[in-house]
Amino acid sequence: MTATSPAIFDPAVETRDPAEQRVRDAARYRQQIAYLFERSPFYWRKLADAGFASADAVGGLDDIHRLPFTEKDELRRSQAEEPPFGAHLAAPPERIARIYSTSGTTGVPCYIAVTSRDLHIWTEISARSYVATGIRRGRRVVSTYNLGPFVAGAAGDSLTKIGVTHIPVGTGNTERLIGAIQRLGADAIMATPSYAVHLIDWCRARGIAPEMLGLKQMAVAGEPGGGDPVIRKRIEEAFRCKVNEAMGIGDVSISLWGECEEQGGMHFGGRDFVHVELIDPATGAALPFEDGAQGEAVYTALEREAMPLLRFRSRDHVVVNMTPCSCGRTAPRVRCIGRTDDMLIVRGVNVFPSAIRTVVNQFAPAVGEVMQVRPARRGVQQEPPLRVLVERGPGAEADAGLAERIESAIRSALVVRVRIELVPHGALPRSEYKSALVSFADAT
Ligand SMILES: [Zn+2]
Repeated sequence: MTATSPAIFDPAVETRDPAEQRVRDAARYRQQIAYLFERSPFYWRKLADAGFASADAVGGLDDIHRLPFTEKDELRRSQAEEPPFGAHLAAPPERIARIYSTSGTTGVPCYIAVTSRDLHIWTEISARSYVATGIRRGRRVVSTYNLGPFVAGAAGDSLTKIGVTHIPVGTGNTERLIGAIQRLGADAIMATPSYAVHLIDWCRARGIAPEMLGLKQMAVAGEPGGGDPVIRKRIEEAFRCKVNEAMGIGDVSISLWGECEEQGGMHFGGRDFVHVELIDPATGAALPFEDGAQGEAVYTALEREAMPLLRFRSRDHVVVNMTPCSCGRTAPRVRCIGRTDDMLIVRGVNVFPSAIRTVVNQFAPAVGEVMQVRPARRGVQQEPPLRVLVERGPGAEADAGLAERIESAIRSALVVRVRIELVPHGALPRSEYKSALVSFADAT
């Protein structure tokens, strides 16, 4: 570690005692609630409807679990009813510094407006998260995200703040990406784990040895997978680099969690600016942040001007790691195991497709890294056996008992009955962005 490449972006905040952090967050939370009552028609109506007529009635951070959640659909509705920004815009329009959008299901984008202070906070949080993943000053970094109109665009501001040399190449431009590594000497990549895996095959098919590219670090985000030990090992071995995960969520911050060199999950990077809770996605009940606990992450902005968020449901299902970390960061760590929306319920048992993949991957190299769950009917509720297509590994011979062995491993690990169908390597669709772990193509 040298002065020019700090391993922690903001040591004062990131190594702070959790109890002291709680006191700070509690004070900021009260200020933000007062701001909502003063400035946000959306929130004062919502809170009044829920029986909280004033900031005093809302109380402090210890009582946050009594408040209603905010769903993405509510924000969409608010914008449809009061275009273009909705009743949740809490800052004067002339103070909006940037307007991002997310792709809307109805064709109308959902707008996310930020003031310059909001943007500063986003890039600060993201800088903490990226630096944890090894994207540090002195690195030459190729980013492969579609920056375009999306919130991910602000990742560029965050990289400038860290002080890396940033080479944006965007999505679907593998030739340019490899060229940037070879000609410009880039030593780090930011990509989705699916794309990182795709790159291995892409390089080898063109006679390029991935391990000769000189990459030192890969920061993967955008989908779960980077934390899957088999996927991580495959990428690390192919490129002879380190792979660390990051995770953000458009409405809350570009990046919000970042995994350090210990690779035991992603540290929360939102201290002072965002409060995170864990809930049971089925009942909405608050769950304690304890080692091994799992549930959906829910976020509350502690300092947000344009579009504040109170108990915003992320739909990201995480497992918590509370063991002290050797990197010095004191914030909790999580591993994301999937989207609440991807969860299937097979005769009463909750199943995440990414959890199935983790078990399937243990059979590598007999299997490849691409698999897809093909439910027989639409919706969450499924009957066993759940059909799963799994690719054989590259060059792997047909193996008579393989499907049965995978089925029985999944049954003992996840208590769910599946039917494994092995397909040739390369038979399933690949994505340069995110791979679909579930396809309802055959569902009735
Ligand atoms: Zn750590």
